[in-house]
Amino acid sequence: MKKILNYINGEFKAPLQDEWIDNYNPSIGEVYSLIPNSSTADVQNAYEAASQAFPTWSETPLEQRSRILAKIASLITENLEQLAKAEAIDNGKPLSLATSVDIPRASTNFQFFADAITQFSSEAHESTGLNAINFTLRQPIGVVGCISPWNLPLYLFSWKIAPALAAGNTVVAKPSEVTPMTAYLLGDICTKAGLPKGVLNIIHGLGSTAGQAIIEHSGIKAISFTGGTTTGAHIARVAAPMFKKLSLELGGKNPNLIFADCDYDTMLDVTIKSSFANQGQICLCNSRIYIERPIYEKFKKDFIAKTKALKIGSPLDNNTNIGALVSKPHLEKVKSYIDAAEQEGGTILCGGDYVNVKGHENGYYLQPTIIEVNDPNCRLTQEEIFGPVVTIMPFDSDDEALALANNVRYGLSCSIWTNNLNRSMHLAKYIQAGIVWVNTWMMRDLRTAFGGTKDSGVGREGGFEALRFFTEPKNVCIKY
Ligand code: NAD
Repeated sequence: MKKILNYINGEFKAPLQDEWIDNYNPSIGEVYSLIPNSSTADVQNAYEAASQAFPTWSETPLEQRSRILAKIASLITENLEQLAKAEAIDNGKPLSLATSVDIPRASTNFQFFADAITQFSSEAHESTGLNAINFTLRQPIGVVGCISPWNLPLYLFSWKIAPALAAGNTVVAKPSEVTPMTAYLLGDICTKAGLPKGVLNIIHGLGSTAGQAIIEHSGIKAISFTGGTTTGAHIARVAAPMFKKLSLELGGKNPNLIFADCDYDTMLDVTIKSSFANQGQICLCNSRIYIERPIYEKFKKDFIAKTKALKIGSPLDNNTNIGALVSKPHLEKVKSYIDAAEQEGGTILCGGDYVNVKGHENGYYLQPTIIEVNDPNCRLTQEEIFGPVVTIMPFDSDDEALALANNVRYGLSCSIWTNNLNRSMHLAKYIQAGIVWVNTWMMRDLRTAFGGTKDSGVGREGGFEALRFFTEPKNVCIKY
């Protein structure tokens, strides 16, 4: 069986203890490869390689660093087909999505930060009357840790690695053990692009062992993490006493506020995507839909009809809209929420069941599910389900919509559908979220700040925010 290997000091390595973890193809429910069950000793080797590479990489001229990152971007594009297929098989997502979103975005992440670093600058302050000038040096931190989740594997892995490398750091990175394949393939691409040995080291393994060894390592001075809120809280507890710099992108339970004056057809099309894209496994998915009462019944009817028309099937089938969920435990977790719907006062309007896909009988397929709720405090509207499950509920006023939107522990993103500028400005100001979309969803400009408030995280990624995170500011004051 195919073995995925760690990428340390520019070489592919088996884990020192020769222990392996099963890697499943979720579309057929079978193990199709093995990944290293890396230990603290493997992480230590990765750290040492990164540490040795740091002095040279951090002093490498910007233009040269930028050229290498741009080369990685173009090699990802050249290998689009292979990478997209690998992502679809490893994750269960439709190949069409991996081909149009995941892999192009991974390439764009490298190209974006290859460009951004050449434009990054720092501040200077003249101390008027004191004959002194201050300027800020933005220096790379050293060896940094990047840990990413399974839902957008290469997309989110590269979103962290690219700015870390661009800023002159060297990296110990760990993709999710559930979706390791494209991170493994990235190693070879980095070598071909001429990334010097040890600058990027990719460790595979469990969060509780390999991940834990990264966050506990005293030499790793910054951790950029995307994943669940509980894991984020744990990482914060470990990292805080060691004074590590932390960026935490965590869970969400995002509201979709739909007003009667919106552009209805566009709203409906985009709401299907914001509910069920990637089987609802995107942190930005809008899983709580609140609809202004005058259009509630019409929306309910149309939304159910469009949802029922989605094609559930093999990720590799071109017609598939909804592929497989990422793993058996995750499938069971999502299903348990559906099973609790009635008990929580909800009514299942459509979906709610497993799907038997012909030829893929053991795959992890679930119908896209709409649940009507009447209690905004029930578990279905409070807890992150992270699957193809949304709740719908009517509202009667702007104040009520705002209160409903803010009535969760999370604060990642939201969508507002209205053509009333005053209303959208007011709501955008008072909604507790890091990202607000008006009349759209998941429209991304990579220069903008990305991240959440409340239990959705700490810090921001994107554009210069990411380059600021991955650098240490040092003020120099010169008296003249
Ligand atoms: P997870 O927290 O279980 O795992 C994420 C990563 O952390 C994995 O690589 C895992 O191995 C690692 N990890 C686990 N325990 C660790 C530990 N003790 N020390 C170090 N690393 C550890 O999350 P997941 O199930 O892979 O991903 C789903 C979650 O990610 C959802 O909650 C989703 O909302 C969130 N997410 C957030 C964003 C965002 O930008 N805010 C984006 C995507 C996903």
